[in-house]
This record gives sequence, structure tokens and C-alpha cells, in this order.
Amino acid sequence: MDFNFDALDHVFFMREALKEAQLAMQAGERPIGAVIVHRGKIVGRGRAEHQGRPSRLAHAELNALLATAASLYDFPHDNGVIYTTLEPCEMCLGAIVMSDAVNHVVFALSDRWINPQPMFDIPHVRRHIHNYMGGVLEAESIALWQSCRPDELALLRGINS
Ligand SMILES: [Zn+2]
Repeated sequence: MDFNFDALDHVFFMREALKEAQLAMQAGERPIGAVIVHRGKIVGRGRAEHQGRPSRLAHAELNALLATAASLYDFPHDNGVIYTTLEPCEMCLGAIVMSDAVNHVVFALSDRWINPQPMFDIPHVRRHIHNYMGGVLEAESIALWQSCRPDELALLRGINS
């Protein structure tokens, strides 16, 4: 199937990810949300959410990937796109690669605290991720962090680190 990354409505899908981030924030979690898009449709959603179990691994992107895993299992390397309100951490970027289903990453706010970009030195990561683009609705993501976790926002933005 034809795929044109530039023709996707990045703003529309990032707004959907921001809705998830808002729900996370309202639940007292970090304001991070993600949606996964396949063939022009949202096929999975996730947010920072522990679902009753204490865990530091319950990231929005991982939750979205787990929610989507079954429906995308038969579509490896078929140009799935993840929209996330914060640049993925090393765990989530690794999970995106290992999903075999998501080949494009769009994020709002860069994470200068973790800075996962050196992972692109790994050929396996480079082969799987065809687009990696930040800055989509960045101001909206910043506003969420500013309203609930300004100190963590400063770390994410590389201020005071
Ligand atoms: Zn993560």
C-alpha cells in the first residue's frame, strides 16, 4: 500500500495524543500520551498509566504498543506511525523497533534529559525507524508539563541539568 509520511495530518494525530496526555495528568501521572496510526487510522492509544500496579515501565508509548500489538501483528513493516507527546525514552524506542509494526516516530517535546538519539547509531534501530520528527504541537505539550510538573519540564528541556 502506498505510504506518504508527509501527507499525514501530524497535527490532528498529535492532538489525539495530547488528549491521552491530559487524561494521564488528570489521573496524577506524567502528562504523556501516545497514539498509533496504521493506514490512516488510529489503531491504539496509550498514556502514562500504571493500571493499579506500581511500575516505572508504564510509559505511554509502551502502553500504546501493547494495546496495538495484536491488531498490527500481521502487518510487519507496514508503516505504522506513533505520535507521542514526549520524545520516546530508550525503552520505548527499543519497543517501537521490536514491535516490527511502527516505522515512524513523531513527537512533540524533545527529551534532552534522556536524549535517546544516540540509539540511532545502532543499525537495527536505523533500519526500522524511517522518520523521526519532533516539534509537532510542542507548545501544547510544554503547557501540560508546566501546569503540573514544572521542575521535570526544566530537566526535559535541558535547563539546570
Ligand atoms: Zn518510555
